[in-house]
This record gives sequence, structure tokens and C-alpha cells, in this order.
Amino acid sequence: MATYRDYYEILGVDRKASDKDIKSAYRKLARKYHPDLHTGNEKQAAEEKFKEINEAYEVLSDPEKRAKYDRLGADWRNGQEWQPPPDMEGFHFYSSGDGDYGYQGGFSDFFDILFGGARAAGVRSGVRRASVRGQDVESDLQLTLEEAYRGGEKTLQLTSREICAACHGAGILETGLCSYCGGTGSTSTAKTLAVKIPPGIQDGTRIRLKGQGGEGLNGGERGDLYLRIHLLPHSQFILQGDDLESEVIITPDQAVLGDQITAATLDGPVTVRIPPMMCYGKRLRLRGRGWPKKDGGRGDQYIKVLIDLPAHLSDAEKDLYRKLADLRKGV
Ligand SMILES: [Zn+2]
Repeated sequence: MATYRDYYEILGVDRKASDKDIKSAYRKLARKYHPDLHTGNEKQAAEEKFKEINEAYEVLSDPEKRAKYDRLGADWRNGQEWQPPPDMEGFHFYSSGDGDYGYQGGFSDFFDILFGGARAAGVRSGVRRASVRGQDVESDLQLTLEEAYRGGEKTLQLTSREICAACHGAGILETGLCSYCGGTGSTSTAKTLAVKIPPGIQDGTRIRLKGQGGEGLNGGERGDLYLRIHLLPHSQFILQGDDLESEVIITPDQAVLGDQITAATLDGPVTVRIPPMMCYGKRLRLRGRGWPKKDGGRGDQYIKVLIDLPAHLSDAEKDLYRKLADLRKGV
């Protein structure tokens, strides 16, 4: 006795859903329940669910199968006991369960009865197994402010989980546990990637590397790798939007009289004029020395001026400060 499967319900789509809706619903679910993403007790439940999703997609993505399935009518409920109508064409009785392991194989009895002919001819030999696109993977890429500013090529070492070539992700072979992957269904591979960083990339930007994500199943294309840019804190600069902030420390005499100092920018040291009577905390603006803007041009750099005493004051200097203090008392 087979139980009816509501493939629309399994994929969470309407009976009138378009091919596109079905495909996108399937992709979403297949990614969510991919057994490689689950471990421990969850893994088996995910495998079951994954199997169901693949079966539903196998039927609903094929116009012929979908039409045949739709002819059963909409009155059946998922899990209901079901017997094929006596007038069902192309009916082949098919008994399953002879050594089909893993989530790509082993469609339900319901499927076997309804599509027995096609399954016996195709799925058995592996030809009609549904292909599944590999999962997308996201990873952090840390850059120093200078690296992000200049851009260029960055070499990455990545460890990626690949679906085990020996058991195709099932973890089990006909002879027992897959010894190649230890039954986990996946193996890890180290690879080196050269990534092009566009100059002026911002924190949080994602770089998409097509086809560098998880491996597909049964000829499905590989997923993509997304690198999320993370800018490391810098000892001298803080990036605020398109503007850079930095600080400079000057002496009291420089603050009073003004001076020319050397300040660090992303393009190297530049000479900055400190105007006379500079107050503590005031900001100097270096136009166009900030971060590259998306629409061309650059932000500004703001230098906050701090005033501090020099590390050492000579006796002569201290004398002058005393004179200064006396003068002030006399005012
Ligand atoms: Zn294996």
C-alpha cells in the first residue's frame, strides 16, 4: 500500500505554480535541507526531507510527469493511503528497497507506482537523477585599510567541503560505511584562489566568485562563493563613510604660532599648514584625501589637532614658560 504524496505541499507551492516558482522553491529547500549542512541527529531528518523535495521536484519540473500526477486530482492529502486507479495507463508494478542507499535514490512507493516505467528504465541506471546546484558559501575576507584602498590581487587559502566522490554524499556504499569519507558524505579540500579586489572597496561589500561554492550533485552546477569584505582597524585612520579621520599632536608653541607639519595620508606623508592660534580639538580638512567614492572622486580627510607638551623640556624652555606665566599675571 502506497501513501499519496502532495508534491505541491512538499515544495510549498500552489497547484498553479509556474515552472519558475517551482524551481526557485526547490532550490531554496534543497539548499536548506542538503544533508551536508546537517550533522548528528538532524542529518537523517534532513536526508529524508531532501529525498522528498527531490522527488517532488522530479515530478513537478517534468511537464509530462506533472500532467500525469495532476490527473490524480487535488482531493488527495499528503500521507493518505493511496491505490492506483484501475485505468491508470503505463502502470508497472515496481518493488523498491533492493539496496538503494542515499538521498538521490529511493523515491517513494507512490512515485514508483505512478512512474514505474520511467523509473525502471532511467532512475535505476542513474540517468534521471535530479541534478542539484551546489550550495552558496559565504566567507569573510579581512583586508587592511591600505589593501582595500589600493585594491589588487589577494591570494586566499580556502578549505571547502566537497561531496564525497566515492559515495556521492550518501556516506554509505553497498558494502557498508563509506571508508573514503568516514561516512560523513563529504571530504575537505584545500585550494588557493586569487581574488581581484577593486580599489576603494567598502567594508561589508560582498565579492561573488562564481562556481567556487559547494559542489553540485548529479551534474548540477557548483554554487558560488561570496567573500564579505571586513576592513581591519587601522592604527592611524578611521574610515567614516567616504571620509577618513586621523589625529595629529602639536606643541603649545606650534598651536600659538602656527607651523608646517607632516601628516600621514593613505597616499603617503603630506605637508599640512597649521594656522596660528590653533585650538585643541579643531579639525583640519584635507580635501580629496579620503576614500574613493562610488561615483568617482574622493572623500576628505579630517585631521583632529591635539596639543601636548613635548616629551622633554629643557631648563631654558622652562624659564621661558615662567616668563610667560609672569607676563600673564601682569596683565
Ligand atoms: Zn563517502
